[in-house]
Amino acid sequence: MIQIPKGCKDMLPSEAYLWQAVEQTARETAECYGFKEIRTPVFEHTELFLRGVGDTTDIVNKEMYTFLDKGGRSVTLRPEGTAGVARAFVEHGLQGGALPFKAYYLISAFRYERPQAGRLREFHQFGAELYGSASASADAEAILLASRFLNSLNLGEYTELHLNSIGCKHCRAKYAEALHEYFRPHVDEMCEDCRSRFVKNPLRILDCKNETCKRFTVGAPSMLDYLCDDCRAHFETLKSLLDAAGVAYTVDPRIVRGLDYYSRTVFEFTTDLIGAQATVLGGGRYDGLLEQMDAKPTPAVGFAAGIERLLLAVEAVDAPFVERLPDVYVAGMDAASRVRALEIAEELRSKGLIAECDLMDRSLKAQFKYADKLGFTFVVVIGENEMAAGEAEVRFMSGSEAERVKFGELAQYIRDYRRNH
Ligand code: ATP
Ligand code: MG
Repeated sequence: MIQIPKGCKDMLPSEAYLWQAVEQTARETAECYGFKEIRTPVFEHTELFLRGVGDTTDIVNKEMYTFLDKGGRSVTLRPEGTAGVARAFVEHGLQGGALPFKAYYLISAFRYERPQAGRLREFHQFGAELYGSASASADAEAILLASRFLNSLNLGEYTELHLNSIGCKHCRAKYAEALHEYFRPHVDEMCEDCRSRFVKNPLRILDCKNETCKRFTVGAPSMLDYLCDDCRAHFETLKSLLDAAGVAYTVDPRIVRGLDYYSRTVFEFTTDLIGAQATVLGGGRYDGLLEQMDAKPTPAVGFAAGIERLLLAVEAVDAPFVERLPDVYVAGMDAASRVRALEIAEELRSKGLIAECDLMDRSLKAQFKYADKLGFTFVVVIGENEMAAGEAEVRFMSGSEAERVKFGELAQYIRDYRRNH
């Protein structure tokens, strides 16, 4: 048998409720801040990601699923969500619409990575994008949304917000120089990636996961000492908004996004519930992104959360989610009552209940066995006598005494029972 490709995961029906609960929580949270869903293609022209993600990133350097289509065009499976949303925003002229533009997405993303727990080749993200506002209140809103989302998943007390500012192009240039000086004596001992980061973008060395390189970052200069007056004021305003909203954070000068068009705010929510891949959500401000894509300069802020990592975390805590149990199994004793059973099941479904009946030509006993396995509370039994009387025998899987209920009153009976038990 052919097996699943490396780094991919199946979501099985038994796990569906947890996925759906996380997705539903994401939707409800984003929507209560006025964000609406956006869907963009799974693949885009490769060029979009070269510009929209940046060619000094791991994603562009080594992780993209890029191929030529049959027309010889280079296309890439999206490695993240922002570039596609930014493209759609420009392509549909939304810069001229109501600002700020607020959208969220629930997507699959693809990166050619070394698979580990919490690191996959196909993974899923919940993300939010907020375009058009340069104000620190927009950064605060993105963080509040992210924080409310994690709280609703019961992860509030298990996650920590790390916050930093990486300044603007002007103040960051001086910082990059200081980092250069600081790392120069060690560059030969660093990993290959960091040697090239040293030349192209020394900030990204701070983000290296290699233990040796990490050691050299201890004691590195902090961006916060290099912020210009405007960037400092922006950061101070953001912190005071978060304080006012009661969101706790740790200022962490080691959080970087490292691209030219990232500016000012960067943040990550981490957890120690799930091992090494501890970042469940990351975001920041990217005021230069739209300009980089040849669009009218537009300030932007957003974040993305990894659903698989969140699921690992949710499974590790007492999550507030339970699977909805099926309501009623309708069993027929003979050929004629099976037809009636199907009709009754249909009627119960149209009243919003989860109802099943036999599809396997099983005996009554075997139907009960199946209903028990699936966790039904009731089995409604229809036979010759029941059809003649127009009422069903309602049997409880719990063993309580059976009751007789008129066909037309079954739905109400089941609802009332559920409400009272
Ligand atoms: P990391 O440093 O862990 O590689 P990243 O900086 O590449 O993460 P982002 O591009 O910021 O990640 O993506 C946002 C979130 O998506 C991450 O915080 C993480 O939760 C999730 N994520 C990223 N890459 C993967 C992956 N390969 N598998 C599963 N989840 C991922
Ligand atoms: Mg990565």
